[in-house]
Amino acid sequence: MCIFCKIVNKEIPSNVILENKEFLAFHDINPKAPVHILVIPKLHIDSFNEVTGQTMKNMTGFIHDVTKELKIEKSGYRVITNVGEDGAQEVKHLHFHIVGGAKLAWSHLSDADPKGKF
Ligand code: 5GP
Ligand code: ZN
Repeated sequence: MCIFCKIVNKEIPSNVILENKEFLAFHDINPKAPVHILVIPKLHIDSFNEVTGQTMKNMTGFIHDVTKELKIEKSGYRVITNVGEDGAQEVKHLHFHIVGGAKLAWSHLSDADPKGKF
């Protein structure tokens, strides 16, 4: 069982912000911004590559609720999902990072030449 499935099953403790039947939102253990929450489906899905439109539709509403719960919906935030090797996805259970609580940087995502490929 993957680490996020263990969090869903409460085998690993987490600091939960919000949950419903389908989704769970909890604090990232290693925050990269003053607000750094992970939103996951309770049923295991490997990554964004495998998710259905219906799950994304439901997840959109849930993410809106999380941003309201955190009171960042007006100040702004970023929603990120890392996919696969180049996306630097470490945990192979679909998750959306919700980061905010301060002005975020947007300066440097890769050491490769950004004009190199296309
Ligand atoms: P990824 O790199 O896969 O997009 O992000 C995985 C995230 O999960 C990382 O930001 C990491 O800090 C977080 N993480 C990994 N293990 C745990 C854990 O056991 N508990 C919590 N709350 N976060 C975790
Ligand atoms: Zn899982």
